[in-house]
Amino acid sequence: MKKRNKNRGQAPLGGLAPERGQAKRDYAAIDKKYVWHPFTQMADWEKEEILVIERAEGCYLIDTEGRRYLDGVSSLWCNVHGHRVPEIDRAIKDQLKKVAHSTFLGLSNVPAIELARELVSIAPKGLTRVFYSDSGSEAVEIALKMAYQYWQQKGEKRRQKFARLTNAYHGDTIGAVSVGGIPLFHDLYRPLLFETIEIPSADIQKMEPVFKKHGSEIAALVMEPLIQGAAGMITQPPGTLTKVRALTRSYQILLIFDEVATGFGRTGKMFAADHEKVSPDLMAVAKGLTGGYLPLAATLSTEKIYQGFLGDYSELKTFFHGHTYTANPLACRAALANLKLFREKKILEKLKPKIDDLKTGLLRFRDLPHVGDIRQIGLMAGIELVRDRRAMEPYPLKEKTGIRVIQEARRRGVILRPLGNVIVLMPPLAISRAQLRELIHCTYDSIQAVTGGRKG
Ligand SMILES: *Cc1c(COP(=O)(O)O)cnc(C)c1O
Repeated sequence: MKKRNKNRGQAPLGGLAPERGQAKRDYAAIDKKYVWHPFTQMADWEKEEILVIERAEGCYLIDTEGRRYLDGVSSLWCNVHGHRVPEIDRAIKDQLKKVAHSTFLGLSNVPAIELARELVSIAPKGLTRVFYSDSGSEAVEIALKMAYQYWQQKGEKRRQKFARLTNAYHGDTIGAVSVGGIPLFHDLYRPLLFETIEIPSADIQKMEPVFKKHGSEIAALVMEPLIQGAAGMITQPPGTLTKVRALTRSYQILLIFDEVATGFGRTGKMFAADHEKVSPDLMAVAKGLTGGYLPLAATLSTEKIYQGFLGDYSELKTFFHGHTYTANPLACRAALANLKLFREKKILEKLKPKIDDLKTGLLRFRDLPHVGDIRQIGLMAGIELVRDRRAMEPYPLKEKTGIRVIQEARRRGVILRPLGNVIVLMPPLAISRAQLRELIHCTYDSIQAVTGGRKG
């Protein structure tokens, strides 16, 4: 009798019905038998002790053993208000009572219409049309296809190429990888990718000669505004966006901002473009769009680009692109609730002290002998670990220094995910100042424990 009560409410696991405490081991074993994880060397995974998340509360994730962990990277850069947010939970439940999904191909739905209007109202000026998809990679692919097709239909048939920045990251599907430039992720696939024009940095001095030479063949320049995330949080100097906008305009090159990581308050303003009041021609958003709840993305375009696709059906100017779950009503409801919280809780207005706390907290990391460059914009930071600071000599990849640091952090109750030897801090915008201190201290202690602490 007692035993039955104890097991009540636990997820049945095939025939394995785990005891409390045993649950984790069983889930882990089944995971290792059946699952293939993204960006994960599964040979290592199969040997490691893995963590299985069961539930969450605010900024904490809780595993099957009931252990709590601070979500230090916003569940891969997407969480905004924390987990189990009553307003977003309720919005999804209410929508569930109406309809979970219907197609957006040839039909519309209420939440998607409302969300499109909202997005246009907060987006950089001039972006007036919303095209939905399901992930950041897709939102970028769609922007690329729109830019290409736009010029083809406009009669500028030579504009077939894309300019991209070295070290860019725009997602993992083939088109998005084509405009990416992170050797570790992308080199192997090079033969499958379309040709692009690489620009070494967002520096206008580097960009102008390329445009001078190839300008009339370039359909668009795609870039992550303000900060290249996956590259290791590489920041751009102030004024860059303004200059890039002016230069692309003068060469009639469309400008695509990939705001998948930077959007929805991450950099301290709603969008990175807002820091310089710059409007791109196309903008991709995803990660924070639903507050980190459901997969939803959008590509925003100007009216001019949109108009370029209008015509008689037989002209075939239609944008032939769409996914089964495009504009999913549950996801759109979550996004609407997310944006409402931004307004009601004055999220952007309240970010400043947290951003300053993070900046101050990061200063102390300079005491650690193996910390190199530290970069931050808003609540987005990267701490570079180096073997030798003076020579800026990196740790060899095979030492897995970044991974060892995040394993140490996990033992101390914080979830992180490194980018090679760059430790990323990207907490939910809703993190409290006390929790932010916890995150910073724990990260400091973990780096110290792994790389050594005394001044070198
Ligand atoms: C994460 C990310 C993407 C890809 O988004 P997914 O939803 O993972 O496909 C694209 N661009 C940038 C800048 C990102 O950070």
